[in-house]
Formats: sequence, structure tokens, C-alpha cells
Amino acid sequence: MKILRDFDLKPLNTFGISAKARFFVEIRAEAEFKELSSLPEFKENEKLFLGSGSNVLFTKDFSGIVVLNKLTGVEVLHEDNENTLVRAMSGEVWHDLVCFAVERGLWGIENLSLIPGTVGAAPMQNIGAYGAELKNTLESVEAYNVKTGEKRIFARDECGLGYRDSIFKNELKDKYFITAITLRLSKIPKKNLEYKILKNYLTEKNIINPNLKEISEAVCSIRRSKLPDPKVIGNAGSFFKNVFVNEEKQQELLKQYPDMPFFKEGGVVKIPAGWLIEKCGWKGKRVGNTGVHERQALVVVNHGGATGAEIKSLAERIIASVHTKFDLILTPEVNLI
Ligand SMILES: Cc1cc2nc3c(=O)[nH]c(=O)nc-3n(C[C@H](O)[C@H](O)[C@H](O)COP(=O)(O)OP(=O)(O)OC[C@H]3O[C@@H](n4cnc5c(N)ncnc54)[C@H](O)[C@@H]3O)c2cc1C
Repeated sequence: MKILRDFDLKPLNTFGISAKARFFVEIRAEAEFKELSSLPEFKENEKLFLGSGSNVLFTKDFSGIVVLNKLTGVEVLHEDNENTLVRAMSGEVWHDLVCFAVERGLWGIENLSLIPGTVGAAPMQNIGAYGAELKNTLESVEAYNVKTGEKRIFARDECGLGYRDSIFKNELKDKYFITAITLRLSKIPKKNLEYKILKNYLTEKNIINPNLKEISEAVCSIRRSKLPDPKVIGNAGSFFKNVFVNEEKQQELLKQYPDMPFFKEGGVVKIPAGWLIEKCGWKGKRVGNTGVHERQALVVVNHGGATGAEIKSLAERIIASVHTKFDLILTPEVNLI
């Protein structure tokens, strides 16, 4: 374990933003984390745990210590006739864990195929896609309190999981280093094909009764066709969260915009942030080296050479125009550092 100084984080974030970490260290084992936590560079500085950097925007240099998480390992903890408990270390690639499950006929995370990033970041925002969320299968999260060094196991209900949200993004922000998660996966097929785009894709391909692998492959194929590849153009997926309103506000908006898409979830109404941004004329717009993707209005991009501050400034302009036009506040999904 070697602590480096003034380390450029550009290759370690999918926006491709150049920002320097005053201290930088990579850890490959839990024991290394324990060793690290006794060092002054760790104890005396602000900390940032980094996985694949696919949900962060560095708006400036980071004056503390960046800890790159490379803890690996996946194991089956327990199985019965119905379920298998799988424990994965937090530095594992999320999609590799999905493949592990699919290969073994374990249901529950196939709709989350190909989401970029590490296993440890998944509970941070309760990753979700195509009608599924991590919270549907999460059993527990193991994490170290960065101040006391104590290890704690959070049961799912203690994680405050909500739409792109968790306790680790709120009350416990920057207070815990997640080292492993355990998932409860089903041996019994539990198809989740309600999401319209997924359903339509399978129908178009004439896949009537898809198996686990076919569902995972369908999700991968849809994602590849829809989302810009960060290796080609810097981005962090959806920059903003969708917006939730009450029915009164929904009716008010529908009077003015009868074509507005919406989804009813419980007592609230979800309005796609991408539609709001597109209606404000941002889709495909370029501002200096930054811009909004031409096919996905929810995705803010780095056309090359942009700074994090420039991307943040574009995001603020988008927030302001959505506010002016719709009287709605967009919230970033991406973590601004
Ligand atoms: C093209 C693209 C598509 C995407 N699609 C989706 C999608 O469909 N659904 C979705 O939910 N997300 C999506 N995302 C966002 C991203 O993939 C997820 O948020 C992912 O979980 C981030 O993982 P990461 O390892 O890259 O996290 P990072 O970006 O490295 O970190 C994200 C946050 O988590 C914290 N963190 C990371 N690891 C730990 C740890 N071990 N302990 C404590 N804190 C930690 C970091 O400090 C930071 O605040 C997409 C991103 C891209 C680029």
C-alpha cells in the first residue's frame, strides 16, 4: 500500500475530468484498510472512497485522501431450495456480479445488468434500472466507521433505501466505507418484465418466454443502444433524478403540456427529468466543451477538455431553466465533489 501525492484522477472518473487528489491510495484487502486508517494522511484529512468513478463529478481538486477500492471476492454464504445468499466484496465490478448470478441461475439482479460501477457503490444510491432496484435483493451491507474503525452490518431496512437514495448519501455521508454486500437471490424464476421498453424489446425479438440469460442480454442490448459509452464521450449516466410531484401539480402541468409523460407510483407521480430538460431546449445543445447528449437529454457530457466546474455550471443552467418553465426543482443524481 503506497500513498501517492497530487494524483490526477482523470482516468478514474467516467466524465474524464482532470482533478488532483492531494493524497491517493489503492486498497486491495480489508487488512489494508485497517492499516490505512491508522495513518495520519487518512486520520487528518477529508476522505473520498472511489469505485469506478461513474457517479462522481470532480468540480475541483480534492484536498484530502482518495481511497480507490479494489477489494475483490464473491462467495455463496448459504443456500436452500428457494434462495441463495451471495456475499460480494465492494470493489468487485457490479456487472461481473450480475454475470455470476445469471450463470448460476439466480434471479433478482438481471434487470440491473451492465450498470457501470462497483458493488460497494450500489447501495449508495440504491441502483436501479428497467423496473428493478438493488433494494429488492439486498440483505445487508458491511461497512467500517471511518472515525472509530468499528465494523457494522447494516440490515437492508437500516440502509434507508429509496429512489436513488440511501442513508449513506444522507445522515451517514462520508462516515462509512462499505466493504461488502450480501444479496438474497432466488433459485425460483421471478421474471420482472413490466418495464415497457424491456417488454417491447423482447416482443420485437419474438422472445415469448425469456430465460434468465435472455433477460440479462436484452437489458445489455437496450443499454448499449441507448446510453452513450463513457469511453467514447465522458458522462456519468443520468445527471439528474426524475421528479416526483403530487397529483395537483401533475394536473396543473397536464393542462399546459398534455403530452407530458408521467408514471404513478404509490401516491405520487414521477415525471421524467429528461422530458423536462428536452422541453427547455437543452437536448443536443453544446456549451463550450460541455453539452447535453443528442439522444439522451438526461445525460450531461464532456465533449473533451471540459472542467468539472464547467459541467457543474451547465447543470446549474439546466436546473434554472426547468425551474423557470415548470416551477420544478431538478436534483443531481451524480455526486458533486
Ligand atoms: C453510462 C452510465 C449509465 C448508468 N446507468 C445507471 C443506471 O441505470 N442506474 C443507476 O442506478 N446508476 C447508473 N449509473 C450510475 C453509476 O453506474 C452508479 O451510481 C454506480 O453504482 C456507481 O458506481 P461507482 O463504483 O462508479 O461509484 P463511484 O462513482 O466511484 O462513487 C459514487 C459515490 O459512492 C461513494 N462510494 C463508492 N464506493 C464506496 C464504498 N465502498 N464505500 C463508501 N462510499 C463509496 C463515492 O464516494 C461516491 O460518493 C450510470 C452511469 C453511467 C456512466
